[in-house]
Amino acid sequence: MSELERNLAKAKTYLDALQSRGGVKNRIGGADSDGAGSFATTSPVDGAHLANVARGDEAEIDRAAKAAKDAFRDWKAMGGKERKKILHNIADGIVARAEEIAFLECLDTGQALRFMSKAALRGAENFRYFGDLAESARDGKHLPSPTLMNMTTRVPIGPVGVITPWNTPFMLSTWKIAPALAAGCTVVHKPAELSPITARLLVDVAEEAGLPPGVWNTVNGFGEDAGRALTEHPDIKAIAFVGESQTGSHIMRQGAATLKRVHFELGGKNPVLVFDDADLDRALDAAIFMIYSLNGERCTSSSRLLVQSTIHDDFVEKLAARVANLNIGHPLDPATEIGPMIAEVHQNKVCSYFDIAKQDGATIKVGGEKIDGPGAYVKPTLFTNATNDMRIAQEEIFGPVLTVVPFSDEADAIAKANDVQYGLTAYVWTNDLTRALRVTDQLEAGMMWVNSENVRHLPTPFGGVKASGMGRDGGDWSFEFYMEQKHVGFALGQHKIARLGA
Ligand code: NAD
Repeated sequence: MSELERNLAKAKTYLDALQSRGGVKNRIGGADSDGAGSFATTSPVDGAHLANVARGDEAEIDRAAKAAKDAFRDWKAMGGKERKKILHNIADGIVARAEEIAFLECLDTGQALRFMSKAALRGAENFRYFGDLAESARDGKHLPSPTLMNMTTRVPIGPVGVITPWNTPFMLSTWKIAPALAAGCTVVHKPAELSPITARLLVDVAEEAGLPPGVWNTVNGFGEDAGRALTEHPDIKAIAFVGESQTGSHIMRQGAATLKRVHFELGGKNPVLVFDDADLDRALDAAIFMIYSLNGERCTSSSRLLVQSTIHDDFVEKLAARVANLNIGHPLDPATEIGPMIAEVHQNKVCSYFDIAKQDGATIKVGGEKIDGPGAYVKPTLFTNATNDMRIAQEEIFGPVLTVVPFSDEADAIAKANDVQYGLTAYVWTNDLTRALRVTDQLEAGMMWVNSENVRHLPTPFGGVKASGMGRDGGDWSFEFYMEQKHVGFALGQHKIARLGA
C-alpha cells in the first residue's frame, strides 16, 4: 500500500466520523444547531461530496450573538490564569487531533499535506502563545502628572465576530480567535462557505478543553446572509475579518450603523525584489516557495517577481526549470507540492488570466493551462515579458501564478514595487545592508523580510497598508483591537479646582 493509499484510508475514517455526527453543524451556546437548511461542501480533488453543512441565517446569528453576550459576563470576569489554562488545554487538544485536522483540511481545501500538517500545529502554538499573555492582557500604563496619578487598564471589548476566508482556514481561525479569548472576549465565528469543516473541529476541541458554552459559537453560511447579519448585529462590538479587499469595504458599510470596530486582513500583490548582488540561489528558493507553496492561495504570496535586468535572463531560466518541475498531485500524497484550487469557480478565475496575459502582450513561459478533470487543477504558471501596468502584475490572481517584471536600478525597483493598490508584504534580496535599509524604508508594505521568505513570529505585528488591510495582529497589537483602554486619574493632593458659581 502506498503512503497516499494509507492516507486516503485514514481520511475516510475521519470523514465517516464527521458524517456520522450529522456533518458540519453550527455550534451555539454549547449545543448543535441545524441552521435554516444546509449546503454541501465538496472536495476540490474530485468534486466528491464531503459533508452537509448547516446554513446559518439572520435568526441563527442572532441566537449566537445572544449566547456570546450571555457568556461574556463570566468569561471576562474569569482570572487570566484560568483562561490561560483553558487556552493551553485547547492547544493540547489540537495537537491530539492534528492528523484528523490536517487530513480533513487537505480534502476540504486542496492544500498539500506537507503544508497542512504544520498548519494544525501552528494553530496550537497560537493558543499557547496568547494563553501565556492572558494574565497580563489587562495591564495598562502609569502616566503620572504633578497633580494626578493617571493610570490605564484594558477591558475586553465584548462579544466579537470573526469572519475567515477559505485559504488555510484552520490556521487563520486560530490566529483570530486565540487572542480574542485571551483578552476575555466571547466569539461568534463565521467560517468560509467553501472550507467549513475544520472550524467545527476547532470549536469541538475548545469545548472539550473546558471552554464554557457560549464563549465560542460557530455559525456557517454565506457572506450575504450569515456574514452580513453578523456585521450588523448590535451585540457584536467588533469584526475581525480576513478576506478580499472588496468584502472588507462591504463590511465597513454594513457595520457603520452599529459603529463596529473593524480589523481587516485583505488581499495582496506582493513583490519580491531581487538585486544582482544577492545570494541568488537562496533568492530563487524563497521566490518559488512564496508563490507556489499553498497553491499560491495565500495572502502573503510573492506574486510579483521584480528582478534586476543585469541578472534577469539567467534567473528566469533557472526559475522556469524549477516551476516546470513542481510536483502536482493529490493533496494527501506526501510528495505533492501543488494540489487543486479550492473550487472550479476559482480555477476558472485563475485560468482567465492566461488569456489576459496573452492579450496584454506577456509571454507564458511555463504552464498557462487548466489540467483536465477531475479536480480543479491548474498548471503552475510563469509569466515573463510583463510590464508592471499589466493586469497580471496588478491584480491578485490567488493561484500558482507568478509574474516577472525586470527593473533597472534601486529607484525603478521601489517605484514598481509600490505601484499597486495593495501593500501587505514585500521581500528584498540584497547583500548591501544600507540598500536594504533604504529600500525597506520606502516600500509601501506592512511586513517586509530581507533575504528571507515569510517567517511568522507571533509577537511581531502582522497586517497590511493601502488596500491590504487595517490594524495589526500579533502580540499586544491583537489586544489593542480586542480590548478597550480605560483611563482613571487619582488626585495626589488638593490641587486647585475652578469654583464656578461660588
Ligand atoms: P472573501 O472576502 O470572498 O470571503 C471571506 C469571508 O467573508 C467568507 O467567510 C465570506 O462568507 C465572508 N463574506 C463575504 N461577503 C460578506 C459580507 N458582505 N459580509 C460579511 N461577510 C462576508 O474572501 P475569500 O475568497 O474567502 O478569501 C480570499 C481572500 O482573502 C484573498 O483576497 C486573500 O488575499 C485574502 N486573505 C488575506 C489574508 C491577510 O492576512 N491579509 C489572509 C488570508 C486571506
